[in-house]
Amino acid sequence: MVNAAALPTDTRQGPSSAHLEALATQVDALNARFRHHSATSVMEGALKDAGHIALVSSFGAESVVLLHMAAVIDPMTPVVFVDTELLFTETLVYQQEVSERLGLRNVQVIRAADIAEKDPYGALRFSDTDACCALRKTAPLQKALAGFDGWITGRKRFQAGSRAALDFFEVEETATGPTGRLKINPLAHWAPQDVRAYMDENRLPRHPLVAKGYPSIGCAPCTSPVKEGEDPRAGRWRNQDKEECGIHVVDGKFIRTGA
Ligand code: SF4
Repeated sequence: MVNAAALPTDTRQGPSSAHLEALATQVDALNARFRHHSATSVMEGALKDAGHIALVSSFGAESVVLLHMAAVIDPMTPVVFVDTELLFTETLVYQQEVSERLGLRNVQVIRAADIAEKDPYGALRFSDTDACCALRKTAPLQKALAGFDGWITGRKRFQAGSRAALDFFEVEETATGPTGRLKINPLAHWAPQDVRAYMDENRLPRHPLVAKGYPSIGCAPCTSPVKEGEDPRAGRWRNQDKEECGIHVVDGKFIRTGA
């Protein structure tokens, strides 16, 4: 089992270099320990022995896999869902239906408190999508994660880019530096067919927009359907010079988000 005593517990504001060094060592040890383990084992190890861990979920196209694993391991697993107030109605309905069906008993729906003040008409996305994502997604998520030792993501190696070398455990980075928290990627080694097979075998409900051509689902104004042969994320911020919302960062750069 994971050595919980060595994992971060007091790193909310500016972790010390000593802490980050210890955390990096711990991450290496965890990756070595779980190298040949399954996604479920990684989930279980993280949730039971790695401190106070949240599952961050967009309740998007593939989210139900990790939500199901969490529900089986512990229905009280904290699930953090960021409602940007610009999501598809289908996502909001799916979030409630999936939570109820899986028996998840600790879903925390979070929203930025300053949207009315900073973007009262929802127009910020027209002038500055990065600022809109920071306001509606990144900032409230970071605030919500302040009480956690780490969080679980749905990112996978097959999504390429910076994810091609993704490990099960890593140190969380933001645009302003490392937070001192763990990030855990139980599905790092899964292929698309593994995701589909898991959903089929467990008869999990699909997000209704997947069947309508949305393999990647974010906010309604910034997500469009994709055509056959297009990259699954081609419908996100289509025709804009933006690929990421800013939740996942490596070496100060945004990378593809699985949230
Ligand atoms: Fe705003 Fe679009 Fe980002 Fe949603 S995805 S927070 S609408 S810029």
